[in-house]
Formats: sequence, C-alpha cells, structure tokens
Amino acid sequence: MLFADLVLLNGKIITMDAKQSVVQAVAIKFGKFVAVGENADIQKFVGKNTEVIELTGKTVIPGLIDSHGHFMRTGASRELFVDLSEESGIRSISDIQSRLRKKARETPRGEWIFGYQEDDSKLEEKRHPTKWELDEISTEHPIILTTVGGHFWMANSIAFEQADITNKTPDPVGGKFDRDGETGELTGGLHEEAYNLLRPEGSPNPTKEQAFKGAEQILKECASVGLTCIYDLVEKSEIQAAIDLKNTNNLPIRVRMDVTIDLLDEMDKLGIYRGLGDDWLRLCGLKFFFDGAISARTAAVSEPYLDKPDFYGVMATTKELATEILTKAYEKGYRISAHANGDRAIEIYLDIMEELQRKYPRSDPRNRDIHCTVINQKLVKRLEKLEILPTIFGPYAYYHGDKLIPAFGEERLESMFAARSFLDAGIIIAAHSDHPCAPYPPLMAIHALVNRKTKSGKPIGQKQKISVIEALKLYTTHAAYHSFDENLLGSIEVDKLADMVVLGDDILSVPSEQIIDIPIDMTIIDGKTVYIKESY
Ligand SMILES: [Zn+2]
Repeated sequence: MLFADLVLLNGKIITMDAKQSVVQAVAIKFGKFVAVGENADIQKFVGKNTEVIELTGKTVIPGLIDSHGHFMRTGASRELFVDLSEESGIRSISDIQSRLRKKARETPRGEWIFGYQEDDSKLEEKRHPTKWELDEISTEHPIILTTVGGHFWMANSIAFEQADITNKTPDPVGGKFDRDGETGELTGGLHEEAYNLLRPEGSPNPTKEQAFKGAEQILKECASVGLTCIYDLVEKSEIQAAIDLKNTNNLPIRVRMDVTIDLLDEMDKLGIYRGLGDDWLRLCGLKFFFDGAISARTAAVSEPYLDKPDFYGVMATTKELATEILTKAYEKGYRISAHANGDRAIEIYLDIMEELQRKYPRSDPRNRDIHCTVINQKLVKRLEKLEILPTIFGPYAYYHGDKLIPAFGEERLESMFAARSFLDAGIIIAAHSDHPCAPYPPLMAIHALVNRKTKSGKPIGQKQKISVIEALKLYTTHAAYHSFDENLLGSIEVDKLADMVVLGDDILSVPSEQIIDIPIDMTIIDGKTVYIKESY
C-alpha cells in the first residue's frame, strides 16, 4: 500500500476540475496529488509517517496564479529605493525630508539616494518638493525622487552639479527642466529625457544582493496572500535573482517569466526561448509595449478621454516599428506577450499578429495580450479567431475604479476589464495585478471581478460581472493555460502538482462584498506548507 506524505481531511475542497467537483479530502505523495475524493477514500492513504491536516470544514482552493506583474523588480526596488508612498505613511514634504534624512545617515557620503512613489496629490502641500527642500536633506548625497506615475523626477543641487547641469543648460530634446519663471534658475523638476541627463550611468539598478533579497521577500509575501505562481516581467537582474533563489532552494513560489523584447538578440544568440526551465521557474514569452497605462489614463483609445476632450492616449510605438520587431521575434519562434491596453493599440497588435500567423503558421501559439482593457465586440471576435489570450486587470475596477469613472465614463467602463464578454466568447482569459500598479492579493481581484464596484462602492461596468467560480478560473485553470501548465497546475486533480490554499471562510457562500476580507490560513506548494497564518 502506498501511503501519502500529506493528507487533508474534512474540508470543502473546490477542485476546479472540469466537472467543478467539490470533495472532502486529498492525498499527496512526492509533491503531487495521488488521490482526491471523500474522507473514506482518502483515509486509507494515512500511514504512520503521513502528516494529516484536519480542515474542520474549511474551504480549500487550488493555488492562485497572477498572470502578469513586475514582482521581483518591485521587491528589489524596495531594497534600493526609499518608499515615499502615501501607503507607507508619507503625508507632507517634511515627512519626505525626515525619511530621506534617515537614509542619508545610513548611506556613505557621495552615494546616491533614490526615493520612489512620490505623489504630490497625496501631500498636504499639493506640490512636489523643490531642489532646495531636497538640499535640506543632504548636500553630500545626490538625491533623485521618482513619482508614482513615472515621467517626472526631482533632484537636489549636488545631483545637478555631478551631471554638469547649470541654470544655463538648455532643455534636452524630448525633455524639460523646471525653472523659476523670473530668474530661470533650476527648481529641481525633471521631465522625460531631462532625467536621463542626471541619473548615474546604468542605474538605478539593484545589486545582486538587493535583487536576491528583494525577490525573496516579495515572493514570500505573495505566498502569504494565496499566490503559488506568478508570471513576472524580467530582465537580467530578476532572472539571476530567480535562478539564485532556485539554486539555493529558496524560491518561495513558482515563477513564469516574460522577458523584455529588448533582449531578443541576446536570447536568440544563445538559443534561449519559450519553455526553458522547469515546474518552478520557466521562460514564457517576450514582452512588447504598444501603448500607455490605464491607471495613468494614457491607454491609446479610439474615442477621447471624457475629462480631456482632445486626448486619445499615447502609443509607445508605431505600427511600422512594432511590425519589424514582432516579425523578428515571431519568425524565430518566440511567444509574444504584448502590452496593448486601449482599443486603438489592440487593433494594431491584432493586425500585426494576423499577418504573422499567416506568414509563420504555428500550432497552439498562445500569444497573449497583456491588459486588453478597452474592447468592443469586433475586437473580441478577432482575438478569438487569432487565439490570442488576454490577461486582464483583476483588481482595477475596485482599486482604481473611482478615478477611472471621470476619465472613461460609465458607458465605456461597461466594456473595460471585460471578463464577461471574453468568457461568453469562449476565450481563455486570465487576470493579473500588474503589481506594483495595484496590490497583488488575488482575493482583492476576485472581489473586483465578481462585484464590479469601486473602493467607494460605486458600480462600475456591472455588465462585466462574473461568478466566483469564473473569477477563480481566471486565477487557476485559465492562468495555468497561459503558461502551458494546464497539465501541472490550476486544479486539484490526481497527478497535478499539490498547490493549494486553505481559506479562513467559504468563498462560495460568504456575501460577495466580503470576499476581499477572507483570511488566507495556509498556502501549500508541492505538498509543502509555505505559509501558515500565525493564529492557525
Ligand atoms: Zn505590467
């Protein structure tokens, strides 16, 4: 008789198998499910060395998968930068000063100090600090602050001096220095290209230790909210951190990687592409950028923004350039994960992919549209026909919803984060937090997809509501399909990897407004407990 390593009994286990079975118990051996069924069927797998978890009726779901984010980079940034966000307790310019002063005391003289997530709209003064206010922090450390939306930075005097930029330096092409209206003196603000003149070469980039520590920390936090796998955008420092974590048996959860398409040539030279890796760490696609962001309200759309009548968002590329780069990647066999948010950008992406799939036919290509936010029925039909898999923003209707209503209007929000439209068309959509653009707890996303209400409680695109089981699919079976993991991950079935989450409440029966508050009691990966709530 084969005894299990781990058995879970007396639960309400939502398997997410094709029949949507709910069972009482599971048995796990060598990291995989060996039996799934009723207590009596599973009890016989309990031997003298079997660990038994008594669930006392608790609900269990498969491990949750976030299908796009910038997790490891964010983790490293936390090591590298000083957090100036409202969430971290910053309320005023003097808060910024005292936090950075502390950092300056710990930092050797002459070394750079970087602050990030500064947001003037959240400060009492409702403005950014000036160069002189940053000089009050330190005149011995160059300081640069990054704002929450990107595109604007602030620096102190020594940072300007080190770059040889004086009041007489003209604005660079594609950028601007903020200046005093009367004297022309630099006041510290840097727009677009102006930032590149000041920042030290090759940085800010985390050290190897910062990348490792930052990735480990954030992936541990992911486990604590029920994520067992994330799909991350990576470059060299994140790839190395992930490999180092894996080689030292410290990788907290599974990672699927999309690499920035800027590295296509280097990857191609080494013959490295889709599928390289294993169950823990695997390479997926190449990430290409088509347009702006939804949270910044800059996605490229066909109708202008309601609160900016002549503004149609920003394209980050042209059709010609995108065709050239994507052709090079696709003909070499790479999978494409393109960021296309607005309908104008999505249409261009689909035009290009239609042509590429005709020229270089490939079975089961699983190219993705990351975000695929503003859609219409015509685009849905084309996505379905081209088998392009959208992954949509999970938490946005809730987390960013209140600021989206004035920009897009109620009507257009009925076809944004369009979970219902995609599912009705039979498209295998997944969802993501795009962390750090939104918080990563997947239950916040499931809450948003099911309720379609903003943080302040306003309904937002209610036609796109989906059921709890459907929302779970986006974070389990569908997400697994996006990374070719459908035979390994996404559901609790015999022979699949034993990734599960024990919930503190029943997600199928609590009022839907309470989904966001369900505690995560335990997270299990490969049959091993990677997170357990303190009071459990
Ligand atoms: Zn992203």
